[in-house]
Amino acid sequence: MSANTNAPTEVRAPHDPLARESRPSVALDGALWLVRHGFPVFPCDHPQLKRCAGLHKTCDGSRGKHPAVAFTRGWTLDERKVHETFARGLRNPAVAVGACSGPNGTRLLVVDSDRPGAIEDVASARGEQWPATMRVRTAKGHHDYLWYPDALKLGNGLGQLQGQFDGDVRAGNAYVVGPGAVHASGVLYELEADDRPPVLAPAWLLDALVTKPTFAARRTRWANASYPASSGVRGLVTFVLDSPQGTRNNRLFWAACRAAEDGQDAEDALLSAALQAGLSEREALATIRSAYKRTGATT
Ligand SMILES: [Zn+2]
Repeated sequence: MSANTNAPTEVRAPHDPLARESRPSVALDGALWLVRHGFPVFPCDHPQLKRCAGLHKTCDGSRGKHPAVAFTRGWTLDERKVHETFARGLRNPAVAVGACSGPNGTRLLVVDSDRPGAIEDVASARGEQWPATMRVRTAKGHHDYLWYPDALKLGNGLGQLQGQFDGDVRAGNAYVVGPGAVHASGVLYELEADDRPPVLAPAWLLDALVTKPTFAARRTRWANASYPASSGVRGLVTFVLDSPQGTRNNRLFWAACRAAEDGQDAEDALLSAALQAGLSEREALATIRSAYKRTGATT
C-alpha cells in the first residue's frame, strides 16, 4: 500500500460561518506533526461543519469522528497531501492505526482511556506501573500510543481487561482521532508532550489482551448494555446468559416469549445473549422467531 498513489478524496471548502471562524491551522499542525513522526493521516468530519463530512450514508450524530475518506486506503504520509487536505477545509486529523509501522516491524496499539488514569488503575491493580508513552488528551480521557509485535495480531478486543478497564483498545483495522482534532464538545485533542514517542507495550498488557475474557466479565458487559432501564429486557438477557448447558435453548425460548408478550423489541439483545451463552446464530434465531410467532408478535 503506497500513501503517495492514494490522494485523499475531494475535500469541500466549508460554507458554514462557524467553520470560517475556527482555525484550520490547528488541524493542519496536528496532521503535519503526525506524518512527520510516521503516523499515516486521513481527514475526518469536523464538528463545526454544518453537515457531517463522513463517507457514510446516514450519520449517527457522533460528529467529528467519521472518516471523510475510505481510511484503510485514503491515508497519507505525504506532507504535501496533508497541506492540500487540511489547509483547504476544516477536517479533523485521524490516524490509520493499522497502517502504522514501528521499529523492528512492530504495529501500533492505541489504549483509549475513557477517564484520566483509567489505564494506570488497571496497571496498579496488577502491581504494575504504566509506562510514560506518547499520549493525546481526549475529551474524556487520553489515548496512549504503544508498539506491539506484529505476530500478536491484536484487534479491538479487550481480552481479559473486559470489565476491568474503562476504555477501549484500537489495533489492526482501526483508527483514532488525532492531535489537532476537535471533539463535538469543543475539546481539542492535544499531545501531552511533543517529543515522547510510543514505547513497547508492556508484556502484562499484551498477555491480558490476548487472553479470553472470563464468563463473568462477559455477563457484566451484556448486563450493562444499554437496554431501556424501564423494561425487563436486561433481566431476560441475564437469564439467557446464566443458562447452564442443556438449558440454553429452553431459557432463550422462555425469555423471547416473555419479551414478545410484553411487546418488547428485544430480539437483538436476546440474540447477542444467546451467542454469548454459546448457541449458534442459526439455532438462536430460529428459537427467537418461533417464540415471537407463538405469541403472535412479528419479527
Ligand atoms: Zn457522520
